[in-house]
Amino acid sequence: MIDSHLVLNNCSQILTMTGGGLGIVEHGAVRIEDGRIAEVADHPLVAADGETEVDCHGRVVLPGFIDPHTHLVFGGWRQNEFEMRLAGKTYREIAEAGGGILSTVIHTRLASEDDLYNRALERLHEMFAWGTTTVEVKSGYGLDTEAELRMLRVTRRLGELEFCRVVPTFMGAHSVPKGTPKATYIERLETEMIPAVAAAELARFCDVFCEDFVFNAAESTRILEAGKQHGLVPTIHADEIESSGGAEVAARVGAASASHLLQPSDDGLRAMARAGVVAVLLPGTCFFLREAHKSPVAKMRGLGIAMALATDFNPGSCPMLAQPLTAQFGCIHYGLTIEEALRGITVNAAKALRLDSEVGTLEPGRTADIVVTDVPDYRHIVYRLGHNPVWMTITGGRIVHRQF
Ligand SMILES: [Zn+2]
Repeated sequence: MIDSHLVLNNCSQILTMTGGGLGIVEHGAVRIEDGRIAEVADHPLVAADGETEVDCHGRVVLPGFIDPHTHLVFGGWRQNEFEMRLAGKTYREIAEAGGGILSTVIHTRLASEDDLYNRALERLHEMFAWGTTTVEVKSGYGLDTEAELRMLRVTRRLGELEFCRVVPTFMGAHSVPKGTPKATYIERLETEMIPAVAAAELARFCDVFCEDFVFNAAESTRILEAGKQHGLVPTIHADEIESSGGAEVAARVGAASASHLLQPSDDGLRAMARAGVVAVLLPGTCFFLREAHKSPVAKMRGLGIAMALATDFNPGSCPMLAQPLTAQFGCIHYGLTIEEALRGITVNAAKALRLDSEVGTLEPGRTADIVVTDVPDYRHIVYRLGHNPVWMTITGGRIVHRQF
């Protein structure tokens, strides 16, 4: 780890992600002072005294990747369900057979706080090696106050590490715990769990799994409004398995983002566009689950909805940690352009987390979270299927990862 005064010279392309596109600067250089971007130039820069020069040897430079939707903290994997799904079982059949989220809840409740932390830390290192410098992490495998707080404390400890920014989300409304009537659980969320999370300042966002067979639109609205009353910004799992009015809820409560959106209604999409809700697309999940529906990206594009991309990393429906792969699935499986995919894992992902004044673009004043990719042309980041393009990662102006 070295000083936070750096000059990156000899970059073949710098993708600043400004001006509504990729904002490409050819043959340029970047100056970093005190952990922030001071200058992006279209010519080489001279390193001053006290500045460290990095010769990028013609590599491509862009903002550190941002993953705005993950379930990083959990106990136990679910490879058995993967096998069941390959044999033709549906999400609901697997859940009814005791699998799904509730099986992860059992393993998460049994795990110690240190155990959860150590497992999540290993995953965070893997994400980081793929260029992720900001990650959102949801609770939701505890489903009681103590277990949810434990997950969020683990997330807070991860956030104390200096190589990655961690954004915590309370998702007690991920499922209804076994043996508890739904109405009782919703009341517990409102009167006990959300206030406890807010009092401990353990979350920035409040999320809900909106599906008619989990929390319907009215119940989701109620839970997200309760979160808002305690200062938690709403976000939502919307219209994934069935069309359930989730996009409409996102617009109604003023959510920062809505995720999944495989089957949103046209009215819902229009409402999202009006309300400025960012669509967080999860093409890795859609691919992994072999979903029949895909997010209607042409409609979203037409309405001007900002599209972000996330891994949705979790043990059941997408055990994938790599944002470059998400971008590849976004293009190949969903039909995004390369520009949309790269904006989806940087600037639009920052918007989804309401961090776009801090990260997601390379411009003066922004935090210097940067990946240097070992490719000759930015399109290779998406084109080289399965390839890890990351050569160097810089977080807050410090070089924290370097491929030799
Ligand atoms: Zn999710």
